[in-house]
Formats: sequence, structure tokens, C-alpha cells
Amino acid sequence: MTVVIDPGHNGNDGNHPEIVNRLVNIGTKMKACETTGTATASGYSEAAYNWDVALRTVRLLRSSGARVILTRQSNAGVGPCINERAAIGNRTHADAAVSIHADGGPTSGRGFHVILPLSTRGITDDIAGPSRRLGLVLRDAYKRGTDLPYATYLGDGKGLTIRDDLGGLNLSDVPKVFIETGNMNSPTDAALLESSGFRQRAANAIALGIGTFLRATRN
Ligand code: ZN
Repeated sequence: MTVVIDPGHNGNDGNHPEIVNRLVNIGTKMKACETTGTATASGYSEAAYNWDVALRTVRLLRSSGARVILTRQSNAGVGPCINERAAIGNRTHADAAVSIHADGGPTSGRGFHVILPLSTRGITDDIAGPSRRLGLVLRDAYKRGTDLPYATYLGDGKGLTIRDDLGGLNLSDVPKVFIETGNMNSPTDAALLESSGFRQRAANAIALGIGTFLRATRN
């Protein structure tokens, strides 16, 4: 089974607005190639956090026998653009693709949420069903594994949001979700995200959720 792990943003995005702000077609509209992501109050960048959790997740998935492809190879580069991130999953015929992020929500808000693609005819109607199944098992695994609350500041109150404006979802032809693994602007969440112990628990949970989805797909 093939898994694409997509660590959101990149460590050097902020120094290259000419690349990051270039518009790309996401199926429903034009959108910036990339965004630079958020950071905790103490300056731990989302790009670095996403990269760390992604590497931990990749290690676990590979040790369980999956073929795993990362959409970027370091945290010192720029991009790739959101359309290319989706294309990597498509080209490799991934059985599942997960974008790892942390959110920049209100300072008073806490928790995590999984973002599912809206079913849009001709764009995401082919992947909406399996993506939802992937998202549900990922949400459940992440809740159990990290004990973070469902996001208190958006979504359905059960850790799920649905969007039609993310290129990474709109352009995917394989089951794909985003996970916003915590709120970097919450002091409580930030303290967790900054701890390597939490990041390992987060990675364990993400790998477990993906594994559950893959086993259900294969059977
Ligand atoms: Zn992000």
C-alpha cells in the first residue's frame, strides 16, 4: 500500500513570496501556490512542526511495511505548490494521502480537526466517500492517541470540517484529508505541540489511523 504524507508549508516559504504567491489553478478558482503557515507565540513555526510530525509518522508507516512518499524532502526549501502536492498523490496512485498541519485559530480556541473534501461534481465527487472514511478513522485515532479536544472554534464540534477551497483536496484523485493537529495560537495546545513527547503521540495516532483505513480498503 502506498501512502503520501504531506507536511504543510516549508521552512523557507517566507523568503520567497515570488514563488509562494504565484497563482495556481485549484479546479474551482485560482489560488496562491502556497502559504507560509502559522507559528506558536514562542516562534516554533508550523512548517518545522509539520515536518517533525511527518518524519515521525513516515518512520512508523515504513516500519509497518507501507510504501511512503513525502511531498517535500526537508524543512529548508520552498513549496511545493499545493497543486503539485496533490499531483504527487495522484502520480504515485496513493491509497491514502494526509496533509499534516497545525492551525492558527483564536487564542481562546483549542483542539484539532480533520478537513474533508466537499463532494463537488467533476472535481471531488470521486474521492469524497473514501476521503470521509479516511478522515473518520484518522479523527478517532487522533482523539484516542492524543486526548486533544475536538476544535472548539470551528467545524461540527466533532472534529470535522468540510471545505471546497483547498487545492490539496480539490486536485486529489486519491483519498485525501488534512489534519489540523492542534491550535498553535492556544497557549495550552502550543505547549503540547512544542513537546517532542506529544509530537510522537500525534505521529503514532496518525500512523494508526492511516493503517486502519488501509486495512479496511484492502479487505
Ligand atoms: Zn498549515
